[in-house]
Amino acid sequence: MSKNESQSRASSLLHYLQHELQHYLLPNHCLLCHSLSPEALCLNCSLKLSRPTKACLGCDLRLNSEASFCPECQQGQHNFDQAYCAFDYEAELKQLIHHFKDKGQLRLGCWLSQELAQRLKQAAQQKAKHQQIDLMCPTPQHWLKRLKRGFNQAAFISKQLNRHLEIPLQICCLFEHKLDFNEQKLLNREQRQIHAAEPFTLKKRDIRGLNVAIVDDLITTAATANQLSRQLKRAGAARVEIWALARTPKPNRQLKQARDQHQT
Ligand SMILES: [Zn+2]
Ligand SMILES: [Zn+2]
Repeated sequence: MSKNESQSRASSLLHYLQHELQHYLLPNHCLLCHSLSPEALCLNCSLKLSRPTKACLGCDLRLNSEASFCPECQQGQHNFDQAYCAFDYEAELKQLIHHFKDKGQLRLGCWLSQELAQRLKQAAQQKAKHQQIDLMCPTPQHWLKRLKRGFNQAAFISKQLNRHLEIPLQICCLFEHKLDFNEQKLLNREQRQIHAAEPFTLKKRDIRGLNVAIVDDLITTAATANQLSRQLKRAGAARVEIWALARTPKPNRQLKQARDQHQT
C-alpha cells in the first residue's frame, strides 16, 4: 500500500470513528429543524424537499414545459442513456449535501442515498431486462481531495445504494486520474485544455456489453458524466446511466434577463 493510500485510509477510519461516537452520544434529531426524529430528517422536513415532478426523460433535468425531453437530450448531446436523481439541488438540499460531504454527516448521507434507492427501485420496475444495471462505478476522486474530506462521497453512496437495492450490484471504480497535481503543473496551455476535457482514464477491464451506472452526489452541467460515459461507451459498455442524489435545475434565463435589466 502506498503512503498516500495509507494516509487516506487512516483519515477515513478517524472520520468513521468520529461519526460513530457522535451517533452514540447524541440522541437522534432532525438535522434541519432539530426536532426528535429516528431518521436524519423528520417527516415534515422530508416532505418539504424539492423532488423532480416533471423532468426530462433522458437527463432528469427539471422541465417547465410539456416536452418530454430537454433541448440537449432532443439534440442527442449526452453520452449517457439515462440519469436518475432523487432531488432538485435547491435551498435545503444545498445545505444537506454540504453537511454530508464537507462536514461528514454520514447519517445524512445514508438518508439521502436511501431516497435515491427508492427512486431507482421505482424506475427498475419499468425497465426492460436488457436495461438492468450490472455494476456501479463511483465517480473518481483525486486522492488529495479524498484525504482532505476523509472519504469519497460517491463510493459511500454506492455502498448505501447496495444496502437498499433489491439486487446488490458489483461496485468498481473503473477510472483513475491521468496525472497527479505535480504532473499537471508541467503541462502547457494546450495540453491543459486537453487534460481538462478528459482528466480520467479508464482502467484496463473488459466492460463490453455491460450496463454501468456512474454514481455521484450531484449533477450540475453533466460535463463529468458525459466525459466518463463517452469513455465507457467507447470501451463497449452497452448502457450507461447516471445515478445522483440531486440535479441542479437550469437557471431560468427569462427571469435572469428580467433581473439583469432591472438592475441596469
Ligand atoms: Zn425536521
Ligand atoms: Zn435531458
